[in-house]
Amino acid sequence: VRMEDKLYQNRYLVDAGRPHIKVRQHQSPSPNLLALTLVCPANCYEVNDNGQVEVTADGCMECGTCRVLCEESGDIDWSYPRGGFGVLFKFG
Ligand code: SF4
Repeated sequence: VRMEDKLYQNRYLVDAGRPHIKVRQHQSPSPNLLALTLVCPANCYEVNDNGQVEVTADGCMECGTCRVLCEESGDIDWSYPRGGFGVLFKFG
């Protein structure tokens, strides 16, 4: 089974206007930020037309990879979604 097929089994409740991850403002992305565009399993990070890294937290699985990667650098702000929002895992 492909990873993508597994991800489709998850459901995600978007907390509109209150994203739980924010990328700190930057002129050009740090190596850490660029790495996020590769390591996020849900492809939440991408480089925009201005060459800055953006996050779309819809679909985030709360795996914590980006949080750990940027813990020292402070490139992102990360908090768990409010209760009831965010990813709902379904297994099997
Ligand atoms: Fe991607 Fe995981 Fe970070 Fe969510 S917590 S944005 S799934 S790396």
